[in-house]
Parts: sequence; structure tokens; C-alpha cells
Amino acid sequence: MSKFTILMYHIVSAPKSLQEKRYACPPERLYKHMKHLRKNGYNIISLDDMLHSITNKINLPEKTVVITLDDGFGDNFENAFPVFQEFGIPATIFLASGLMGKTNVWMHNNGFPQRTMLTWEQIREMHDQGILFGAHTVTHTKLPEISPTEMLTELVDSKKQIEDNLGVGVQHFAYPYGLFDDAVRATTVKAEFKTACSTRSGFNNSSADLFSLRRLEIYGTDSVRALMQKITFGVNDSNISFPVKYYMNRLKERLR
Ligand SMILES: [Zn+2]
Repeated sequence: MSKFTILMYHIVSAPKSLQEKRYACPPERLYKHMKHLRKNGYNIISLDDMLHSITNKINLPEKTVVITLDDGFGDNFENAFPVFQEFGIPATIFLASGLMGKTNVWMHNNGFPQRTMLTWEQIREMHDQGILFGAHTVTHTKLPEISPTEMLTELVDSKKQIEDNLGVGVQHFAYPYGLFDDAVRATTVKAEFKTACSTRSGFNNSSADLFSLRRLEIYGTDSVRALMQKITFGVNDSNISFPVKYYMNRLKERLR
């Protein structure tokens, strides 16, 4: 059975505030993460490759990893794209499509520093160089909190905006804030997406629900050791004491 791990990043830039530290991965850190994965033989594939393998029952090699970035921050072009090019990484960026060329209003309204989002020109350039784009609604809204009609519009319009700008089909979606329920999931299927990423931690395998894919959140503060701990155990806990707790619990279970 194929197992694969999806990593999630957001901002790729030095954090501008304490609150941002978790979401802002400095470029040098992303470089170290990607270099480590490449040097250690990780099979880094795109979400399209993952979908192709799962639907055609093709076994994925061990150590298969998918890299995703949420929201579509402008720094992804300046800081992350060069890293992905250097290491030949087919990352996927989920776009809050209506905010492209604008700012991160949904965060700024909650006290986060203001940041600019990608422009469609930058998105097209990255697309031409092998970066994949998925949808993340139009306005970065909390899907379970809006009406069924609004929900469908957010999903269909974000897909269409990206398709119109890139001239290719968009198959992948990521739930803003990781928020979804049965109605949101059903609407995502109805909007003709083929997969949807959640923010639930853990590994995925070939029998995983393609509309609630698990992802590991890589914090801006995560060292290479922390990254590897997350990938090894399938958890978001990057605390150095985690492995000890993990093996102690396993030992206790065995002794029970
Ligand atoms: Zn988001």
C-alpha cells in the first residue's frame, strides 16, 4: 500500500511579528528543508502525480512527499520559487484567488502584519516552470459558516479564476483554516475538484479519502531535526521530547 506525506507551508519570508513565526518560514530555512529532503532520497512529487498514482493503482516509492503552500503569498515567488527550481521540486500552491495582486486581508483583520499576495503574472511564470496551482476559495472564507449557495460560488469561482488565468484545469483544493464538514466536502466534490487537503495531521495511504487528505504543518521555526521528526512520526509536534514520549507510550502499551 502506498504511503505519502503532504507538507504544508504558508509565508516564505522572515517573520514580521511574534504571531507570524509559526506561519513564516525564512527562505534559508526552506532551502535547508528542501536540500535535506533531496539529499536523503525523498521522492518529491506533485499532487497531480499523487492523484495519478492513486487512481491508476501505481505504487508510490517509500519516502514519498508532496510540498504544498497555502494562500499564495507574494514571497512565494521571490523566496520559495528559486528554491523549488534549484532542487526541481514540483510544489503546489493553493490560491485564495480573489486576493491575488492584493493583500492578506483575512489575516491583517486579525492583527497579523500586512503582506502582499502573488500577482497573476507571477503565477503564470511559476506555472510555466512546473509549479502546480490549486484553489483555496476566492476570499479565504470559513466554508462551514456560509450558505450552501455562497459555498458553491466560493469553490466554483476560485477554480474558474485560476483556470481562466492559466488555461489548464484545476483539480486540487485546500480548505481555508482546515475547516470542513460533510456539506463542505460534498460541495467540493460537486465543484468538480478531484482532491482536497485538510490540516489534519498524519500520513496518507492509497485508501485515504481524497477529500480529506492529511497534511503536516511545517512551522517557520522548525529546524531540519523538527521537520524530520514530523515526517517520521506523522505529527505536528516538533518538540524535542516527543520521540521519547512516543516510544515510552508504545512500551507501556506493550507491557499492558
Ligand atoms: Zn489559508
